Amino acid sequence: MRHHPSGQAQPGAVFLDRDGTIIEEIGYLHRIDQVSLYPWSIDAIRALNRSGFRVVLVTNQSGIARGFLTEAIVDEVHRHLAALLAEGGARIDAYYYCPHHSDGTIEAYVQRCACRKPGRALVDRAVDAFGIDPARSFVIGDRWLDVALARAIGGRGVLVRTGYGAVEEQRPPPALTADAIVDNLVGAVGWVLRHLQL
Ligand SMILES: [Mg+2]
Ligand SMILES: [Zn+2]
Repeated sequence: MRHHPSGQAQPGAVFLDRDGTIIEEIGYLHRIDQVSLYPWSIDAIRALNRSGFRVVLVTNQSGIARGFLTEAIVDEVHRHLAALLAEGGARIDAYYYCPHHSDGTIEAYVQRCACRKPGRALVDRAVDAFGIDPARSFVIGDRWLDVALARAIGGRGVLVRTGYGAVEEQRPPPALTADAIVDNLVGAVGWVLRHLQL
């Protein structure tokens, strides 16, 4: 457990995948009119806000490296998502994305990086920004790489069956198990709130 200089324990955060977890997975989303929140996402995120957890979005956006979208478009999508959430009284504290891919076509983004999930560099940005304890944190997503991220930070991982999740559930990778597999973000948030380390 990490500690503040004051000696108080640091809290965990909830790291949320974006596509297939909060909004419909459509593949290389590149316009704000393609953003479709699941009907329960606002309520689920608001419940996390009330719990006192930081809520941090972490998303692989290799479409940037592949030339299908730009960082400006991703930023616009995230501003739009933030506005939709705000209408319902919900808030994501930070939006982090990985623009890279080793097979990309846009040279500036072609690399094996530390931030593409299950790499943990996006989480480490949140650790620096908010002083959270990764080991007391949760990752919620629709891919095994989201669960693998949870393992990488020493936290707990919840797989949702929305997006790719139902297919992912049928083909678990060797030596990786989720702490829970649930139907959707509401189920995941319920599980997290029942497993808080206070
Ligand atoms: Mg996803
Ligand atoms: Zn990256």
